[in-house]
Order: sequence, then structure tokens, then C-alpha cells
Amino acid sequence: MKGQVMKTENTEQNIIDENKIYSILHKGSKYSSQEILDILKSARDLKGLNMDSVSALMTVEDETLLNEIFKTAKEIKNKIYGQRLVIFAPLYVSNLCNNECTYCAFRAGNKNIKRVALTQEQIQDETLHLINEGHKRVLLVAGESYPQNKFEYILHAVDSVYKTKHANGEIRRVNVNIAPLDLAQFKELKKRDIGTYQLFQETYHKATYKDVHTKGKKADYDYRLTAMDRAIEAGIDDVGIGVLFGLYDWKFEVLALLQHTQHLENKFGVGPHTISVPRIEPAGGSSYSLNPENAVSDSDFKKLIAILRIAVPYTGIIMSTRENSELRSETFALGVSQISAGSRTNPGGYSDENADAQAQFSLGDHRCLDEVIKDIASMGYFPSFCTGCYRLGRTGADFMDLAKPGDIRNHCDPNAISTFMEYLMDYASDETKSAGLKAIEKACKTMEPIPAQRSRKFIEKIKSGERDVYC
Ligand code: SAM
Ligand code: SF4
Repeated sequence: MKGQVMKTENTEQNIIDENKIYSILHKGSKYSSQEILDILKSARDLKGLNMDSVSALMTVEDETLLNEIFKTAKEIKNKIYGQRLVIFAPLYVSNLCNNECTYCAFRAGNKNIKRVALTQEQIQDETLHLINEGHKRVLLVAGESYPQNKFEYILHAVDSVYKTKHANGEIRRVNVNIAPLDLAQFKELKKRDIGTYQLFQETYHKATYKDVHTKGKKADYDYRLTAMDRAIEAGIDDVGIGVLFGLYDWKFEVLALLQHTQHLENKFGVGPHTISVPRIEPAGGSSYSLNPENAVSDSDFKKLIAILRIAVPYTGIIMSTRENSELRSETFALGVSQISAGSRTNPGGYSDENADAQAQFSLGDHRCLDEVIKDIASMGYFPSFCTGCYRLGRTGADFMDLAKPGDIRNHCDPNAISTFMEYLMDYASDETKSAGLKAIEKACKTMEPIPAQRSRKFIEKIKSGERDVYC
């Protein structure tokens, strides 16, 4: 780990204070078991944690105390999210890229890959495939270079996804993970009715950031760091932040994620809608990705997910198919609330299994959506394809106001059940349908009266042929 302390200037752009992070980390592991238990006790009131408390939890190695962290994360997850898991699929539209991120297969210097930017018709074909699998939410992903250098390509891509319909199916929320935009471009994106704008800082450690982003616009750390401010100023109030774990010390990155969150809360009154926790996976043409300098072990990974859940209880945590199915399943109890399923990371990879465009990195979970749904239903979770909040304008601060007293469950649980029921009726295999119906029945029995009553009403509506029922 490079322990360089960067000098911080006191400007508004200065979202990350490295000196503060180091001084908190350097306090070391001077916490008694009782102090750790006290932190966990106070965290149960769902108020989140400050940086000192997060740092204290990160020092825990003792198995009994670690289990207390996991137990607290599980309790918090259950209080806010119940057994719901939001499901989405990534939609890679292009692997053209001018940047040189040493860990990524799409980096400009990788001359051995086939570069593809899907046409709008191909994007519709990919969307149709996802719709016919049963998806309702997609995350549109692209490298940082667009055909003819026109950012409008992305705007048209969003339109293409939304306008694709088939039978009872449609995509109801398009989230976007693309390179940082300027204010005017963010405003255009907002007009396209996107859901969340997602962007990972990759590493918040400036010196490491410079080492691994050697060329192209992405080399500008500050432009990336301030992207969420511009997105929110443009009216996109659901933003998703993240770190690519493996680039730098994970403890530094967790505290930096917290600083970024606090910056958004202080400036806009609402923190990020989601936090993503990708770990570096092997990527074609990237020797760096095969042996990342700060690879995070499975046990540290689970610990950091649980700590994030406790620290920012109302922010969704996203787990992608980079991880294998066993580890993914373990993290559901620790705080993960959204997962991708049935993913491909090569443009065109859904509609053409033999598409020869390069995948961005290798996947750990190769199961199709139906298998994932069957598994999570048999584990007692229920998948949600819900897009209700965003379509009813419950975004940003409005969403958080409702989420904080726990009222959101009166909406989320019935909406999850309604969309799960749609999935079972329209797309599931017989085996998944039977596991799913049992899970729904069990879920309704354990819900509070209001959501249980709403859920039962929605189930009847879906059975009688209505679709897209939500509150
Ligand atoms: N090109 C845009 C950018 O870099 O922000 C957006 C899309 S990029 C394809 C999405 C994310 O993929 C990156 O932010 C990075 O965290 C992740 N990624 C890149 N290479 C990876 C690898 N080898 N393993 C896991 N994730 C990787
Ligand atoms: Fe391009 Fe994004 Fe890959 Fe970097 S991470 S090379 S910007 S696609």
C-alpha cells in the first residue's frame, strides 16, 4: 500500500480528505470488545455510522465479534429491505473506448479485441432478449467513446430500450453506467427518463488513480469525482457510486465512500441511491487484472459489505455477476439489496451467444435468470423487478424521507410481490414457478398487515391478467 498523504486544498471540489482518512486509519486497533459492541448497539437504530466507528469495525478480526457485525448487518437489512432482492441485467451497448484503464479489456491500447458499437436495431434485439427472459430493469453500459464521437448515441440507445415491447414485457427502468458528462449532457440524459446514473470512482486514492488511468479523459480524477454533483444539479437525483476493489487498500476506500456519501448528503440533502462493490476480475489484454496489487480476500469482502450496510442503512448495495453464486448468496444476508442476473458483458452477447465482441471481464456467476430466481426463492428471498418509486417520482430526497422511518416497505413489499408474480406467470419454468409461489405465500404470511393486504390484492390482479400493478 502506498501511504502517501496527499495535500488537500479547501475547495468545494475537495470531496475526499485523504489526510483525515489516514489519521482515522492510523488510530489502529485500539478498540475493546465492549467498544465494538457499543457501536453495533447504537447502529441498530438505523442512523448509520461516522468514520471513526466504521474504522473501528474494520479493525475487527476476532471471530465472535465479526459474527456480531454480520448479525447486526443482517438485522438492519431485514428491517429496511426484508427479504427483497432487486434484480437487473447489464446491457453493454459498446466497447469503444479512448481511455487506458490498466484493469479493463476495453482499454484503448488493447488492440486484440473486436470493437463493436451496437446499432439501434441491435440494441432493440438485445433488449427483446432481456424482456423475454423476464427482465424489467436494465443497466446500460458503454466504454468512453461513441460512434462519430456523438454522445447522442447513448440518448438514442436509452430510447431504443424503452421503446422495445413484447407481449406483456417491457423494460421499465433504464439505469446508466457511462463516463462522466458535463452539465448540459446530464440534462439531456435526465430528459430520457433514466433511473439511476451510476459511476464508480474506481479508487478514491489520487496517486493510485493516476497510476492506473494513464490516458484519455478518465485520467482526470477531479472531473470524475465531481460527476455526481453535476448529475444531481441536472436533476438526476438517484446516483450510484462505487469502488473497484483491488486497486488500493480497501479500508481507505470504504472511508472514502463514506466521505463521498457525506458530501452528497451535506450538499444536496440526500446521499447516493446505491453503492456498488465490484472486485477486479480477470480481463482479456490486462495483465494487471490477473494479479491486482490490493486484491481483497473473500473474508474482508464480506466484512466490508456488512460494515457498509451498517454505516449507510438506506443506500442500496449492488452485487454483480462478477462474483460466484456461493459468495453472492452469502452477501444477501450481509446487506446486498440489488443483484444482476443472467449477465453478458460483451456487446451483442444476449441475442447472439457466439458474438465475438470482447467481454469486459470474466464472470463468476453464469446462471440464467430462471435459475437465479429459483435459487433465491428457495433461500427464502423474493426477487423484485419493481420500478414503482422512480415512476411515481419517489426519487432522491423524497425516496429517502419515505425510506427512513421504514414506511417504504408498505410500497416495496407489495410491488416486489406483484412483479415477482408477473415473472412467475409470464416467464418462469415450472420448477421456478412452484418454488416462487411457495416463497410468495410465505412472504405474505410474515408481512405487516398493510403490505400483506396490498400484496394479496396485487396477486389477484396479476392472476386475472392485469400487469404493471404498483403503489
Ligand atoms: N466506461 C465507463 C467507466 O469506465 O466508467 C463505464 C462503463 S465501465 C464498462 C463499468 C465499470 O466496469 C468500471 O467503472 C469498472 O469499475 C468496471 N471494470 C472494469 N474492468 C473491470 C475488471 N477487470 N473487473 C471488474 N470490473 C471491471
Ligand atoms: Fe474504458 Fe470504462 Fe474500461 Fe476504462 S473501465 S477502459 S473507461 S470501458
